Order: sequence, then C-alpha cells, then structure tokens
Amino acid sequence: MALTNQRSRAAAEQLRRDGQAALDWVARYLEHVPELPVLSPVKPGDILRALPQHAPQQSESFDAILKDLDSSILPGITHWQSPNYFAYFPANSSPASVAGDLLSSGFGVQGMLWATSPACTELEMRVLDWLVEMLALPEHFLSTRSGGGVIQDSASSANLCALLAGRERATQFGSNEDGCDQRLTAYTSAQAHSSIEKAIKVAGIGRKNLRIIEVDDQFRMKPSHLARAIEQDNRDGRIPCFVGATVGTTSTMSIDPLPEIGAICREHGIWLHVDAAMAGTAALCDELRYIHKGLEYADSYCFDCHKWMLTNFDCTCFYVRNRTALTNALTITPEYLRNTASTSGTVVDYRDWHIPLGRRFRALKLWCVIRSYGVEGLRAMVRRHVQLTNEFVSWLRSDSRFETIAPVSLNLVCFRLKGPDSANEALHQKLNASGRLFLSHTKLNGKFVLRFCIGQSYTDEEHVGAAWHEIQKHATEPAVAAG
Ligand code: PLP
Repeated sequence: MALTNQRSRAAAEQLRRDGQAALDWVARYLEHVPELPVLSPVKPGDILRALPQHAPQQSESFDAILKDLDSSILPGITHWQSPNYFAYFPANSSPASVAGDLLSSGFGVQGMLWATSPACTELEMRVLDWLVEMLALPEHFLSTRSGGGVIQDSASSANLCALLAGRERATQFGSNEDGCDQRLTAYTSAQAHSSIEKAIKVAGIGRKNLRIIEVDDQFRMKPSHLARAIEQDNRDGRIPCFVGATVGTTSTMSIDPLPEIGAICREHGIWLHVDAAMAGTAALCDELRYIHKGLEYADSYCFDCHKWMLTNFDCTCFYVRNRTALTNALTITPEYLRNTASTSGTVVDYRDWHIPLGRRFRALKLWCVIRSYGVEGLRAMVRRHVQLTNEFVSWLRSDSRFETIAPVSLNLVCFRLKGPDSANEALHQKLNASGRLFLSHTKLNGKFVLRFCIGQSYTDEEHVGAAWHEIQKHATEPAVAAG
C-alpha cells in the first residue's frame, strides 16, 4: 500500500464518487421497481433512436450518464427484479450478490489459470463443494473426490461441455483429433431445453443424430423409448454417446425419471448429463430432494444459482463425476499459458473446464450470497415460493373458468382458460400490456398455455394475490370471453 500512486488515488476517488451515485441509483431502483410496468413497452428501435450515433470525443460526467440512464435506458428495461415478474424462469438477484459482483469488478481479475489469481480458483472450488453438501448431491461431484464443480456462464454452456465430454469419452478422444465421428448419436426428451439441440449442432454431432425421446402424459422422458432407441442405434453400428435428462423442464418443470434413465445409461456406458437449471435449487430443502432421485447415475449435472438462488446472472454450477474426462476433452496448452503451478499438476486450471479461456471472479457473489443468507435463509426463500405457488393453484382451481394443464411442480403453474387458444392468447396479451405483471407462455399438447413461475427474489403473497386479481379481471372482459 505504501506505493500508492497518483493514478490509483484518483481512481479510488472517482469510484467513491461515481460508485456511490450508482449504488444509490440501484437502491432507489429496487425501492421503486414494483411500481414500474414489468414488461418494457418500447417499440423496436426506440432506444437506438434515443442514443447518439457517435461516441463522445471528450469525457462526460457520471451525473450526465445517470441522467441518460433514466431518460434513455430505463424505459427499455423489462424489470426482471420486479416482484411482479412471473415469466420464463426468474433471474434472481439480491443485495449480497450485487455487492459480491461489485467486489469482483473491483478486483477485475481474469482467473483463467490458478496462477492468474489463486483465490479466484480456490474460492470457487470451496463454494462449489459447499453446494454439493447443501443440495445433498452425490459425493463424487466433490473436488476432494474424483470430480468437482465449476461456475459457467449459463446452463447452455454447461450442457455443451457435458456433451463434448461424453462425445470424447465415447470416441476415446478421437473426435477431437479426427473430427466428429458421424456415427455418434445423442438422446434427450421432447421437453428438454433447446440448448441441448444447440449443443448438438455446435459439437458437430448433427441434429439428425439427436434422438428426441417421447414423453409421457406428465411430460417426462419415457425410459422404455430411450432404451429402444439406444438398442436400435447399437444394432445399426452407431455410437450412442450422450443422454441429456432434465430435472425441471422449461415448459412444465417436469422431472425425468433418473433412476430408470440412469440404469440404461450405465448398462450401455453412455454419458448421462442432468440439466436442473431451474429446479436444482429446490434440493436445499429435505422435502424437495426427491427431484434428484437417481442422480447418483449422472456423469455431469448443472443448476443455475442465477435462476433461483438469489445470485445475479451469470452463475451456472456445473459438476462432473470424473474431472479428467472433462478436462481431457477441453484442454489445450499453448506455450504462453505454461507455468510452474499448472505443470506441477497440483492445481485446478478452470480454463480447462469450459469453452472460454477467460473467466470472471464469479464465485465471489455466490460466496457473499451463501454467507449473507445462510443455507436456512435460502431454504426459506424456496419454501416461500413453493407455498405461494400452492396458494395460487388453490385459487385457480376454485375458479371453474380455468384449467391446469400439467401437474404443478415446485413453483411453476401451467394453466389456461377453458376454451380456444385465441382467448388465452388475448388474455396473455392483456395481462402483459397491463404492466402489472409479466408472464410467458408455452404450447402443450398443441394448446396455448400460460406459464406462471413464482421465483423472483422479492415476490410475496401480496404480489401473487394482485396477479391473481389481474388474471381474474382480464379473464372476465368481454373481448377475451368472446375470443
Ligand atoms: N436448461 C433448462 C431446463 C432451462 O430451463 C434453461 C432456461 O430456462 C436453460 C437450460 C438455459 O439456461 P441458461 O440461460 O442458463 O443458458
């Protein structure tokens, strides 16, 4: 600290001034966000038109920037941090996470190698091991055993990495050398997230080699169909390399039967990846751990703390049973990255655990969250959301105009007005245009269905009650009833 120089002092000064203003701005925003229209009402190009075409040549004050944030940017924000947000899956945030991200930005480290910031790697290892215990995940995912966890930017990336590891294991790392073997096949359910299909394209396996397995009437993968598809491919001389199962599908939060799927994968030596992007967090609670029944079969697993664990995007936790299977698939070491620690083999270099080389110090925000809320605090949030969901369902079921379409799972309700799609589409539009709530839709069994997910950090009974009031009100309006 004795060597503090002029530039560092000036930076500290500027951060105290502008950083404080930014923090105040965000705090004010959080106070008022419940009053803002949840879905941004702007039209395409509105924000672009409000922005100057050219970058400023001279420096501008942070005050001026904040002024423009209010006038030009805020109108184009859809308020994911509004307690009236019920769309897609949430993108959780919390003061502890924002503060953790600020610390990470302050350090500004790039943790590609252990050596480029040992704490960035070792805090991540420790926190991801904590999560194994917190969610009662199989112990082989611990870094102290054969596996380990890593924070990735998204479940999509984690799904891709799992596929690459499965592909390489099935071809004895030959696809990395010779190009993708066109005999490779992969399997996932008709309700799996689109990122699996995207990963198949990116990994060079090809969509024609992805077998989409039928689901049952509760939108879960049918194990008998999976077994049949694998056996047929084996007979045809194909190389089944990857099964992507889902715990908490995007449309309905259905849970694939992992014990049966896992046994099939084990019998055939196929990499089983479990994508629990949204639902995984529920395993904080003993009574919800049934979602992970059969997870002991999984070669890899991911869930998103940025969806339902009070941690700002991006924070996907990705685990592997055997870390060597993953790193062998992704390692590449140019001369300029060689260093004594890596060569010693005693450290983890997370650059080998995902696609990008560079990585932010994301573990800091997760560490701040877990310590600030404690496991009990996080559990309480999950339980509150699940309980609110059950209340919402009881209101819905007491109104004969509505029907639920899929089994209600955890914190997601798929419902619709009895009647034609047009009535439901109109209801959906009116609700979102009201600004009072935001919910999204899906199609199930060919029908337009509204999805109502209760998982936003600040959602409470009053918000769910107000949303239900709004849904009832718009459902009775003549334009909708006539639709
Ligand atoms: N997997 C599932 C089951 C999801 O529901 C989602 C997104 O909703 C994803 C993957 C993709 O998540 P991410 O945005 O972290 O890539």
